[in-house]
Amino acid sequence: MNDWVNILQGYGSVLQDEPLASHTTLGVGGPARWFFRPENQDALCAAMLCIPTGIALLPLGRGSNLLPPDTGFDGVVLDLSNLNHIQVYESTLTAECGVRMSRVSRICADHGLTGLEFMATVPGDVGGGVVMNAGAFGQQVADCLTRIRVVRRDGEVQELQASQLEMSYRHTRLPHGSLVVSAEFTLQQGDGEAVRENIRQMRSRRSLTQPLELPNCGSVFKNPPGDHAARLIEAAGLKGHRIGGASISAKHANFIVNDNEASSGDVLALIRLAQSTVKKQFGVNLEPEVRMLGESA
Ligand SMILES: Cc1cc2nc3c(=O)[nH]c(=O)nc-3n(C[C@H](O)[C@H](O)[C@H](O)COP(=O)(O)OP(=O)(O)OC[C@H]3O[C@@H](n4cnc5c(N)ncnc54)[C@H](O)[C@@H]3O)c2cc1C
Repeated sequence: MNDWVNILQGYGSVLQDEPLASHTTLGVGGPARWFFRPENQDALCAAMLCIPTGIALLPLGRGSNLLPPDTGFDGVVLDLSNLNHIQVYESTLTAECGVRMSRVSRICADHGLTGLEFMATVPGDVGGGVVMNAGAFGQQVADCLTRIRVVRRDGEVQELQASQLEMSYRHTRLPHGSLVVSAEFTLQQGDGEAVRENIRQMRSRRSLTQPLELPNCGSVFKNPPGDHAARLIEAAGLKGHRIGGASISAKHANFIVNDNEASSGDVLALIRLAQSTVKKQFGVNLEPEVRMLGESA
């Protein structure tokens, strides 16, 4: 084993050739050469220093917006799920990157804080939510985010104001090679029971319209300006279309579901088919929202 991998083991657990299919909500993706789960933030900073700069890094939240290729990832996947502290002071909530967004919404409800109810319906972590500027039901991370802390490739921690992140629809600009380790949100004071009711309604709308019973990655494409990706894909006649073990959901055309041991290649082929058909029929470019890696990209 490489010297640096031995050192890494002092900062958390290290697995080799770990299948990424077990760490993505789509259930696809080949092996990660190394899969490292740091014990805490300090361990992550120290680990960044000992991983040689030529080794590729992939930060991982819940893998709910990720399409790794069947060939896997030739580098270190950083599983940040142990960084999961959260605290609330008055209207300010601070969460480490590995806190599930559903936990944030629950804690907001407990404290009567409003603004992030949508997080109850998004199955990712705070780090992934910041990077994607996740949002739904008219709310988005950028509305409440005040600042973040990142760890840079040299192991240094840096604090950034939300205004420095150029956040827009499903987009956040981070300094190159840096990882989000925590985020601070400022919320509005509200009524706990009203917040809970809002969450209940959002959840039930979701389960009526989305194929949540099957492995998926949420919306595959961003909505083009003034239109909906689902409408275009359905109008192109692709709803329910299958390639291998994956299909375009018959319930929601902007979802691809893994309903029969799909490969990443099956999902990618459906993405390319939807893009080319919609472009040909309507002249619209569909931009993937799902983060594609390696050959998928
Ligand atoms: C059923 C379902 C419903 C969904 N609904 C919505 C929705 O309503 N709205 C919405 O916006 N999204 C939705 N999504 C997509 C997804 O949940 C969000 O994009 C979420 O923010 C991704 O978080 P994650 O922790 O899973 O990130 P991952 O999928 O693990 O990672 C996403 C990207 O962020 C990077 N990343 C992750 N953590 C960090 C970090 N700490 N620092 C730096 N980079 C990092 C990864 O490398 C990757 O590029 C849905 C997904 C599913 C499966």
